[in-house]
Formats: sequence, C-alpha cells, structure tokens
Amino acid sequence: MSSGNLVPSQDGNLSKESRHLANFVPDVWGDTFLVPPPQLDMDDITRSEYQELKEQVRRMLVTSLDDNPSQKLDLIDAVQRLGVDYHFDKEIEDALQIIHLHHCNHTQIDDDLYTTAVRFLLLREHGFHVDSQTKVDYPLSTQIANALNRPLRKSLPRLVARSFISIYQGYGTHNQNLLKFAKLDFKIVQHLHGKEINELTRWDINCIDQLPDYMKVWFKEVLKVFKDMEDLMCKEGKEYHVQFAIKAMKQQSEVYFAEAKWLHENYIPTMEEYMPIALISTGYLNATIASFVAMDDTVTKDTFIWAFNVPKILRASSAICRLTDDVVTHKFEQERGHVSSAVECYMNQYGTSMQTAYEELFKQVNDAWKDINEGFLKPTAAPASVLYLILNLARVMDVLYKGEDAYTRAGNSAKTSITALLIDPISI
Ligand SMILES: [Mg+2]
Repeated sequence: MSSGNLVPSQDGNLSKESRHLANFVPDVWGDTFLVPPPQLDMDDITRSEYQELKEQVRRMLVTSLDDNPSQKLDLIDAVQRLGVDYHFDKEIEDALQIIHLHHCNHTQIDDDLYTTAVRFLLLREHGFHVDSQTKVDYPLSTQIANALNRPLRKSLPRLVARSFISIYQGYGTHNQNLLKFAKLDFKIVQHLHGKEINELTRWDINCIDQLPDYMKVWFKEVLKVFKDMEDLMCKEGKEYHVQFAIKAMKQQSEVYFAEAKWLHENYIPTMEEYMPIALISTGYLNATIASFVAMDDTVTKDTFIWAFNVPKILRASSAICRLTDDVVTHKFEQERGHVSSAVECYMNQYGTSMQTAYEELFKQVNDAWKDINEGFLKPTAAPASVLYLILNLARVMDVLYKGEDAYTRAGNSAKTSITALLIDPISI
C-alpha cells in the first residue's frame, strides 16, 4: 500500500543504494502456506447432504411470509451472518422486496423493537428506502442510527461467519439444517482459499532464484498472468475484460511514478494534488477492475467504464484505504524516506498540528463510509455483486488497520483472523 521508493540508476537498473529500504519484520507464517492443503475431507454422502441442505435453505427463503414475516427476517439475517447468502442472492432480494412492500402498505404493523430494527437494517443494507423516523421512537432510532455504523457493516463477512457459526449454535431457536449447511460451506470455502493461497505462495517460490533481478521477474510474471487471463477470457468472448485490467495496471504504475517524482523532488503536494494520485495508488481501482475480469455476466463493458470514472462509492472505498493507511503508517514510512502522506500534505497546506490533521482525515473516513452506504440505495449505479466487492475492500481497512498496521506487521488480531479463516478446521 505504499510506493515511491524505487529509483532507477543511470544505466536504467534499479540501484539498491538509492532505494529507501524499510526495516520490515520477517513473515510470521513460515512454511504454513507452502504445503498444498490435503484433499477436501468430505465423502460423497456428505457432499449430497450439502446439496440437499442448500435446497432446504432455499425453500425456507422462498416460502410465503404471510404467516410470520419476522421469522423470515430472522432467517435472512442468520443466512447473511453465517456467510452463505452468496448462494441465495435472488431469493433474499425477492423476499426483501416483498417485506418492503408489505411494510410500506401496512404502516401500523405492531412489531417488537427487535423485529423493527432487523427489518430496518436489512432493508437499508439492501438499498431499500426506509425512513427510520416514521415508525420508531427517538431512543430506538438513535440505536438504529448507531447500528448502521456498527462493526458488522465494517467487518469482513467470512470472519463474521466464522464467529457467528458458534454463536448461532448457542441459540435455543437455531435451525439445524441451516447451521449444518453453513458449517459444511465454511469448510468447502476454507479449503478453496487454502488452495488459492498455496498457489500464490508457490508462485513466489518459483521465482526465488531470480530475486536479485526481481523487477524483471515481476514484470515477466505480471505479463504472464495477464496472458493467462486473456486465454481464459477469449474462450468466453470477453477478451476486452483483460484490456480494461491492463489499462488499470498501467494507471497504477503511472501514479507510483508520480509519487516517486514528488519524493525525489522533495515536494509536498497540496491535498487537491495529492488525493487523485493517492486514491489510485491504494491499488483499489486496480483490484476492483481486476476482480471484474472473471465475474459473471452482470459485469458488462458499462461496469468497467463506470469504475474507471471513479464513482462516489469507489472513491469512498479508496479514500478509506488511503487515509486510514496514511494515518497509521506515515511515521514508519517517513523514517525511511517516503512520499508525503495525507498527514504531511494536510499539515503543510493548513499549518496545523499532526493531531488536527488526524482528526480531519478521520472525519473524511467517516464521511466516506456514509458515501458507501448511500451507494447501496436503490436504484443502484452498478450490480450488487460489484458494490459488495467495493464494500469488502473498505472493510479490509477497518479490520487490518484499526489502531495498528497489521498489513505490514501481522499483530495478534490479524494472526487470529487469518488462522480462523484459513487454518483452523471447523468442527461439523
Ligand atoms: Mg502507507
């Protein structure tokens, strides 16, 4: 998440002497991810049980809610928190549509506070317009307003799922089928992530002999990744997807260069100069576009063009990354010589203390979260899958950078999260 520390020497090679090297701590994972994970431990009977349970959950989601709308709300809430909602996007959307209509047509519904709060949160999260003031009294509306910014909105869904599976198990009213399905699903997804991490790690290992020439190696591998992407996408007639990804990667390189230039000219940009460059150098636009490449047909040419225009929600997600990162990492970076962060830019431009700069930047982060929530209001400018992708990138910052830079130095909370997600098996 940083840049601007590579300097070409006169012969065009990267000179080690002129690079600003940081005293990074060694990787804490050792060989953990170098060993390919064993085959998924799941027999045929369990696999068909998994499919059957999925269909049972689907049936529960689509049954009429005439009898008990609050039960349906509880079910949707549990399905989301257990991390299996991605199987039922359409069923959840349809059910909420009906709940929303029902709610709009029956303003005198006499629900308890809990049901009112869950309905409000779910409808708002899915972008339905609901007025928190019409049906709820002041103390509750305050609670709901706070809850909108509650950690859940900023948490990574897979981490929520891992911990909610145990919590849900403790509920007297939990649904056995849903719980079993969520556990099996977690096991399958964890195994898939384990395989992916292992493949990424092996990629590094293959390159290790050539590391002194690492820029060449990096470049070669990047080109290869793009070539592989192109081959895959050609088969689907979507090679233009890769052209957009290449464009995003080029843009990423250009802003790194701009930051490196500022560093070597000892120039402290104004916030107005800094932000457009620094928003791109987060890599969030690049990561967003790259993620679109292999997504389903909901992603179209228009979606790419939309993202390249840096719409409000993507700007907000990038700003959350940039400003949170800058506040947490700027001291460590400045020690080794690094392009000015938003903290230095702000202090220099407005002549303020570091504390004042922090406060202003945190305020901008809070505003950016509001922009993200606004981006989910219907009608949305992009498909929900795309909006959630952008939201998840913002959530990463809240999880990894809360009070520490757990991206650069994995602290206890990051180690616990990664272990729960990728290493600890789930007991079924
Ligand atoms: Mg940084």
